[in-house]
Amino acid sequence: MKHHTRDDLWRDFPKTATEFEARFATEEDCREYWIEARWGGNPTCARCRSTRVWTERDGFLFECADCGHQTSLTSGTVLEKTRKPLKVWFRAVFEISRRRTGISAKDLQRILGFGSYKTAWSWLHKLRAALVRPEREALGPFVQIDEAFVGAKGRGKELVLVAAEAGGRVRLAHAENNDEPTLKSFANGQVAADAHVVTDGLASYNERSLSARSHDMIVQTKAERRENDTLQACHWAISLLKRWLLGTHAGAVREKHLQAYLDEFAFRYNRRKTAGVGRIAARVIEQLVARKPLTTHQLINETRSCRWFTSDYGTAT
Ligand SMILES: [Zn+2]
Repeated sequence: MKHHTRDDLWRDFPKTATEFEARFATEEDCREYWIEARWGGNPTCARCRSTRVWTERDGFLFECADCGHQTSLTSGTVLEKTRKPLKVWFRAVFEISRRRTGISAKDLQRILGFGSYKTAWSWLHKLRAALVRPEREALGPFVQIDEAFVGAKGRGKELVLVAAEAGGRVRLAHAENNDEPTLKSFANGQVAADAHVVTDGLASYNERSLSARSHDMIVQTKAERRENDTLQACHWAISLLKRWLLGTHAGAVREKHLQAYLDEFAFRYNRRKTAGVGRIAARVIEQLVARKPLTTHQLINETRSCRWFTSDYGTAT
């Protein structure tokens, strides 16, 4: 198999479970794909970037002919130090990609036959991290912004900021509050500077939080909302989100992990019109390859709730 572009890898990725079983029947199949995705087909020394490497340990390790450094298939990626075959990881990627509503750690544990729930849980978190693209285009040109409270284990109801294009993409942020600096940080990170914004009557939606964006603040009665909901895209996404948290995750989302779940929901929601488990799975593998390893501390303890707000949180006015 020789590929030249990432698009080839997407096109080539199996679309059905049967195709998947055939395509990735052996560890060797998965390794080849991984090498394509990670190094464009030529394993490269992690220290000196040389491509003159000897393959060792059944193709899991590459020793550099120039500097002697050993690079493993997974070192420096999200899958670093995994003891499980790539084949099992590929299966997990396929399972998480093929289900429109995602998968719980319990389901993943059952499907992969893991003895330990903890292992399934940590796999799921690594895969979930790979579901989110780091660089994402700002929403526009017509964007609704709203807030919602969702249930999470820990502190009870958690505040979620929602930005949604009518009929389009959505962004969700777990936030401490909805004051001006927080909204400003959210808008600047997620909404194009020239977008037109619609909100409800909350006072902190103003020229300080939304800057120069044109803004319609619309207060609706219940009856008016039934007739023509000006925040329909937000409300629709929120109701699906709540159903998803209750359904797939049985409401068992911990407050400190809520942002990761919001990211997964947004990823799936934003792809609801593109049929294509293959494209999603290929994208996940691409991210597994490109992302740095997650530490156990990051997996278990790191709250990502303020991710959108770390740079200018509290300083903006
Ligand atoms: Zn080297």
